[in-house]
Amino acid sequence: MKHNTYFDIGANLTHESFNKDLCDVIRNAKSTGIKKICITSTSIEDTKLSLKIAGSDKDFFITTCGIHPHYADTFIESNIEDIKKLCTNSLIKAVGETGLDFNRNFSLKENQIICFESQLEIAQELTLPIFMHQREAHESFMSCLNNFDLNVNAVVHCFTENKKEFYEYLEKGFWIGFTGWICDPKRGKHMESLISSMPLDRVMIETDSPYLLPKNLKVKGRRNEPKYIYEIAKRIADLQKKDIEEIAGLLYENSLEFFKLEQ
Ligand SMILES: [Zn+2]
Repeated sequence: MKHNTYFDIGANLTHESFNKDLCDVIRNAKSTGIKKICITSTSIEDTKLSLKIAGSDKDFFITTCGIHPHYADTFIESNIEDIKKLCTNSLIKAVGETGLDFNRNFSLKENQIICFESQLEIAQELTLPIFMHQREAHESFMSCLNNFDLNVNAVVHCFTENKKEFYEYLEKGFWIGFTGWICDPKRGKHMESLISSMPLDRVMIETDSPYLLPKNLKVKGRRNEPKYIYEIAKRIADLQKKDIEEIAGLLYENSLEFFKLEQ
């Protein structure tokens, strides 16, 4: 395996499946060439846990702060101040993850919209990038975004859609995050022609650990880890017919630019 430079822009390292061996997971991530990980947070409490992990290696980690659409039913007005307060911590480099998930509908649609728009407002006010999740809610998602004249960097993470949505997002100036979904011969098939021809200047990669273990991997268990990030870069490189070194470097630079980091 080659040692390239990777930035995993989305890993759920506060997930309980990492409780026992997080140190090993981090060490293995580093030894496969990962230079940065953004720990994605899903609630106020979860953000505090993310900050704890991030604080253990401030050169390696950054985090997001926000309320995931799955938890939108728990959102109350005072959370706006909670998020703003937490965002004064310099390890927090984005608001989120936030957005709409009408696939699982763990929270009411109307609550998801209120929770999402509130976080768009916060990101705008604090001029922080925004980390967005969208599943089976493209139209409502775009209509929320169209209520804002967004002037902050925004990424749609775990992109699983088609060319139409991809270019609509680019048109809006958004970044796109790809996960191991694209390595799945069945579920990722429809994205092959998009990936082989897409412009790369706003593309980033993420494992979404512990979820979405790249299907092509033959490993024990189902837990995904940041160390498997190279599978996603390799898939993009193969489809684009480019060297993985070149792709990895480019995606790394994109991620620094997105989060407004210097190194
Ligand atoms: Zn998500």
